[in-house]
Amino acid sequence: MTESGATEAAPVVGRFAPSPTGRMHAGNIYAALIAWLVAKSQGGRMVLRIEDLDRERSKAAYIDQIQRDFEALGLFWDEGPCFQHDRDEAYAEAFARLETQGLLYPCFCTRADLHAASAPHRGEKLVYAGTCRHLSEVEARRAAGRTPGWRVAVDGRTIAFEDLVQGTYSQKLDRDCGDFLIRRSDGAFAYQLAVVVDDAAQGVNSVVRGVDLLCSTPQQRYLQDLLGLPHPAYAHVPLLVAEQNRRLSKRDRDAALDELLARFGSPRAVIGHIAAVAGLVPEEAPATPEELLKDFSLERFRDGLPDLVQIPWRS
Ligand code: GLU
Repeated sequence: MTESGATEAAPVVGRFAPSPTGRMHAGNIYAALIAWLVAKSQGGRMVLRIEDLDRERSKAAYIDQIQRDFEALGLFWDEGPCFQHDRDEAYAEAFARLETQGLLYPCFCTRADLHAASAPHRGEKLVYAGTCRHLSEVEARRAAGRTPGWRVAVDGRTIAFEDLVQGTYSQKLDRDCGDFLIRRSDGAFAYQLAVVVDDAAQGVNSVVRGVDLLCSTPQQRYLQDLLGLPHPAYAHVPLLVAEQNRRLSKRDRDAALDELLARFGSPRAVIGHIAAVAGLVPEEAPATPEELLKDFSLERFRDGLPDLVQIPWRS
């Protein structure tokens, strides 16, 4: 497969990967819309994957709601839903393969949970200092009263890739990233491992998501290298934000779909509004994703894109 993921032999497979921790908001809908347009404009398919690794924050009611929301918006998927809660065996197998390579070590640091099952966000990346990497046997035994998380060791390599929206992006792993969590101390596999294993297993070769996850991509590409998995093409799209660039939050029901529907009146009007705000169309008019397809081109859309797009009616 090529870096673009779009060879004749390999049709484009994109994905929706919502975490069912709240109702979708404008930013989630926007990223999902672009992901759908990118795949469909190349004759591709979409997989729906429910990212419910975080069992405590994931709620069954949102799993249903998210699917109904996607359907109402005309964001149809071709495969799935696949659930991460069904995938422990596959994650354990990947974990074992990394362990065989001597790259994993237990980490007893209590802040481990901060890094783990939820996706880290831009500006919040913590570079692990390597505290537990060389624990002596005595220290390890002393710490063993606690259940450890597990980290994968990184080296000094630089991971560089061409993002279809952001251009070239690179990280020197030991300096910019540090050893990162693969499994949390509560036993849950971490986002970075799960997403890599699932993208490969589901044949995903086109990843379109918010730019807040750009800084996670080198970690994911590193794991793909270690596990011998192909690299999807990546496109990290701007974040939609509220006034003063405040992040939209699912938990606070910020710009949630029900609020958007009440405000704009119909799913077509919501899609049309988001498309206009985000610069996909020159003028706002109700539209289905299907109707946006004919004028969509990632290249045109990419030029001059900011990292953040404010939703004007929130200010
Ligand atoms: N599940 C993540 C979220 O809803 C997306 C992860 C990804 O696209 O890799 O923010």
